Parts: sequence; C-alpha cells; structure tokens
Amino acid sequence: MASVRFQGISKIYQKDILALAKFDLEVRDGEFLVLVGPSGCGKSTTLRILAGLEEPTMGEVFIDDRNVTDINPQDRDIAMVFQNYALYPHMTVYDNMAFSLKMRRMPADKIDQNVKETAEILGISDYLQRKPRELSGGQRQRVALGRAIVRHPAVFLFDEPLSNLDAKLRVQMRNELSQLHTKLESTMIYVTHDQAEAMTLGERIVVLKDGYIQQIATPLDLYDNPDNSFVAGFIGSPSMNFLNIELENGAIHAGDIVLENASYAGIPDGEYLFGIRPEDIHPSEGSRLSGGIEVVETLGNENIIYMKFNGKQFAARCGPKVKAVPGETFGFSMDLGRSHLFSIDGINMKVNAT
Ligand code: ADP
Repeated sequence: MASVRFQGISKIYQKDILALAKFDLEVRDGEFLVLVGPSGCGKSTTLRILAGLEEPTMGEVFIDDRNVTDINPQDRDIAMVFQNYALYPHMTVYDNMAFSLKMRRMPADKIDQNVKETAEILGISDYLQRKPRELSGGQRQRVALGRAIVRHPAVFLFDEPLSNLDAKLRVQMRNELSQLHTKLESTMIYVTHDQAEAMTLGERIVVLKDGYIQQIATPLDLYDNPDNSFVAGFIGSPSMNFLNIELENGAIHAGDIVLENASYAGIPDGEYLFGIRPEDIHPSEGSRLSGGIEVVETLGNENIIYMKFNGKQFAARCGPKVKAVPGETFGFSMDLGRSHLFSIDGINMKVNAT
C-alpha cells in the first residue's frame, strides 16, 4: 500500500505532441482513483509515466515519499493490468500467476501459497492447470488480475481492463473489482474512457481533456457541480442539454423564449451557456415550452425522449408511462433550480451549486 504523487508533470512526445500538461495529483493510500476522458486526452501516458514505461518531459513522481522519477519500472513495486490481458499463451494459469514471483526468486512453497490464495479470491482455483486459450474472456481477465495481485504490489494500475468484455460481463467485473478493492485495501489507479465505469468505480475521479486536468472530485460532486461545460457534458448519459442564452436582468432569453429564475438574479447580463440534465426536464402538457419529438428510447424502466428545442437536440428522461411519438410535440417544464449556467468559455457560474 502506498500513496502516489504527480508533481508538475508534463509530457511532450516528439513532433510537439502535448500529451500531459502541468499535471498535479495526489492519490491517497488505499484510494480507488479513476482517470477518465476521451481518447487521446493523456490517460495512458499518465499511467505509463507512473509505471516507469515513459519518462516525463518535466516534473517528478513520488510513491509514498520516494522520488521514483528515475527508478526502473521493475523497482517501483507497481502492477499493471491491461485491456488485452497480456498473458503468456503457452503457460498454464498457475504458471502465468507464478511467473513474476519466480523471477523474484520467491521460495516455491511461498509462491504456491500466494497463487492459491489469489486464485481463491478471484474464483479461478478450478482453472489453474488450463492454458489461457481454454478460458473465457472474463476468466482471462481474472487471471490477468491474479497475476497482478499475487505480487502484493504497492499500487495497482488498470488501463481500460474491461473494454474487451461484453456489456453484462463488464458490469459484473466492475462489481468484482470494487469488492476486490475493499478486500485488498490497495491503492488503485484506473483508466477508462467510459464515464459510467468511472462513476461506479471511482472514489475520486480525475477528468482529463487534451492533457489538462479539468476537475478532480467525487462522482456525485462531478455530476452535481461540474467545474466547466466539458465536465458537465462528459459525465452523465444522456448528456446534459445545452442552450446558448442571453441573460437580461436575471431572465433567460433564448430565441422567443423568456424564462424567469430567481437563482440567476445578480448574475451580470450577457451571453451564457445554459445547461440542464435530462432528468430535470418534465412532461407538462400545454406548457409554453415544447419541442418536436425526434426519437423515443423505450428502456422499460424509463423513456428517453429526444426532441428538437430551439434548434438544439434536447433529451428528457421520463417515466415509462409517458407517451411520446416521433413527429408530435412534447410539452415540458424545466427544474431551473437544478440548471447550470456557464460562461461562454465554459466556466460554471455555480448558480445552483449544491
Ligand atoms: P489516452 O490514453 O487518453 O487515449 P494517450 O496518453 O495514449 O491518451 O495519448 C495522449 C496523446 O499523446 C495523444 O495525442 C497521442 O496520440 C499521443 N501519444 C501517445 N503515445 C505517443 C507516442 N509514443 N508517440 C507520440 N505520440 C504519442
């Protein structure tokens, strides 16, 4: 177990590709921290720098209080689990798990004990003599996890480990990983582009975009109090709805629509980006707010209604009994007490911060 600290890390690859800029982050001992962001935002680079597989252009990395910036990967006491499992195909599950311990010259009886204990935790004791090709995707991913766990590393790194699994298995493995974290009490840093995975796994989440940290917060705080419009749009599915508006004396003007809202009083007049989540839009027949229904997703427990409102696509999350037909109009109200207002360059004005 260990804490991790990135201090002023920047990474520029050849040809001036900025992968990571001014990255400062402290991961607590025993924390499950998730790095999330779109493809190419610098997530893998962050993990690779911590693992020692990539050198930072600037800055330093600490594990506990030890500066490991110039330390070899194998001397950092870190285990990494990848999306493609990276198992040795010709070795049995047992040998795959025992391999790194043998390399460390651990006595055979101690290796045996570690492998068997770990296999028990992961529910793969029955497969120890099989080869990776004789296992399902989920079982292979458990072996890959097992290979990391047997070493009792100070820090676990996960690089999109579940993205090769089908949707149902992914949810199951997500639960298992959470339980594993509780059981092992280890520091885990997990990279994903999937915001749902980030929300369900992370104790804290770091949202990255173009190499820059956008926000570091707990899942609920990210959802309720996003610092900027990028985080607001990235976290949550369907995404937050956005509308360009003009604020005049605390009233919202968007096209022909004028909305009064007490919480906007005192905000300077001007152009803003207005944001509202799909669940804060409610059906309201005969309302002066309405949109042309484009698509209705019937999910059984809820209906997601996509409509055109003021030239933008708006999503409303409604109960399963709400009737909506594409081509017809959807009258709605908005819970403005839960809306967000962003400056034109995306900064949340925090008018309704909780
Ligand atoms: P992510 O994991 O979020 O998808 P990466 O950390 O892999 O992002 O990449 C961040 C940026 O750095 C991207 O623009 C990517 O193209 C670039 N990049 C990553 N690795 C290399 C490399 N070895 N050489 C040059 N550019 C790279």
